[in-house]
Amino acid sequence: MSIYRKIEESQTLLINNQSKNLEGLQKKVFKFGFGQSPFLPPVQVMEALKANVHRKEYGSVQGDPELRQLISDFHFKVNGLKVAADNVMIAPGSKILIYTILLSFKKADVFIPAPAWVSYAPQAKLAGHNIIPVGTSFAKRWRVTPESMENAFAKKKHEVSIMILNYPGNPDGLTYSKPELEQIAKKARELDILVIADEIYGLLSHNNEHHSFANFYPEKTITTTGLSKWCGAGGWRLGVALLYEGIEDEFKKALIGIASETYSCAATPIQMAAKVAYGNVENALEFSRRQCHILAKVGNYCYHELVQSGVKLYPPEGGFYLFPDFSNYIEKLNKAGIYTSSDLCERILSETGVALLPGSAFGMDENQFTARLSYVDFEDPLQKTDFKLERDCPKMIEGIQALKNWLALL
Ligand code: PMP
Ligand code: GLU
Repeated sequence: MSIYRKIEESQTLLINNQSKNLEGLQKKVFKFGFGQSPFLPPVQVMEALKANVHRKEYGSVQGDPELRQLISDFHFKVNGLKVAADNVMIAPGSKILIYTILLSFKKADVFIPAPAWVSYAPQAKLAGHNIIPVGTSFAKRWRVTPESMENAFAKKKHEVSIMILNYPGNPDGLTYSKPELEQIAKKARELDILVIADEIYGLLSHNNEHHSFANFYPEKTITTTGLSKWCGAGGWRLGVALLYEGIEDEFKKALIGIASETYSCAATPIQMAAKVAYGNVENALEFSRRQCHILAKVGNYCYHELVQSGVKLYPPEGGFYLFPDFSNYIEKLNKAGIYTSSDLCERILSETGVALLPGSAFGMDENQFTARLSYVDFEDPLQKTDFKLERDCPKMIEGIQALKNWLALL
């Protein structure tokens, strides 16, 4: 028996490396595997980072107080959330904040929808919790429903229940309507579940409308968000958690304690730049609108093309992902010796250069032919006066056509 924990490198980061390695070998790769914003942060935000390189000091564990106030004001104006600055936590990425929340509990049941983002389950496992998948299906638009929550809840083992709800979703690219959120909130209240609402793609909702879960379940929702997606600054590592009013003292102490014993604080120059990003709501909204306009065009192009080939798929609603279901191809895939979603992605990558991530990375059964497609392989077109898919996203078009040809030749 190994003395080490069994933990694989996150599939998202792995596919990023693999794609870069293949490119290094002069192979043509369509980088639809990794989910990274193609947009540069706004110029004023980048200028603020440059101007603050000398800010080399450690900051407060919870985050710069002025920035926390700006974030509190921002999410009040944008999402109607009433979160006091004292209940805002800033960290190097929302990923570590989700882990910090999970680590704050000794033992919990963690309800994770399938499909859901790759890192939730490994984090829950590292924290020693019991993972309970919440089943969804293509027919139900991969949505969590009160019934699926109830079914999952029947497998509960521990006192504490935590559910992670992410929308607009990674990997599905879909969001929830207000009535759907109301129903989920009602069930969460009834079952007394702490909800981590991962709204990192909230500002990239393609129709510019996003309803925060904490509006429906304010008493026990922690919202996580940050600069990685709407501000195009994933590698800057700035994440935010919006705690709930009246959060238990012991819980908050655990959160800050873990933060102080692990990452200490978010980088100070990045927090200074974040003040500019969060300090002007109108600029931020305008920036998001321009990105959404482009993302919706690219996502819908991929959607229409793939649906024409008989792939099961929903039109994208937010973020930059699609979650195609290739089950209509099951016989042809089996004939070609492809039996799992991993086989599928490996063969597509080696035979077309299109990098996708298998549905299994997101908690789906290996024998369901699903995959995640990130429609982000293009250069930032925001500096141009207009946007033209053919001119600005040639690799998206070429990659989607390569995938369609591969399917046609099966
Ligand atoms: N949640 C989801 C759904 C994501 O796709 C990501 C991707 N980066 C994160 C959380 C983590 O974001 P970050 O740590 O960069 O804030
Ligand atoms: N969120 C991105 C993705 O799902 C990558 C970043 C990460 O996994 O930390 O591809």
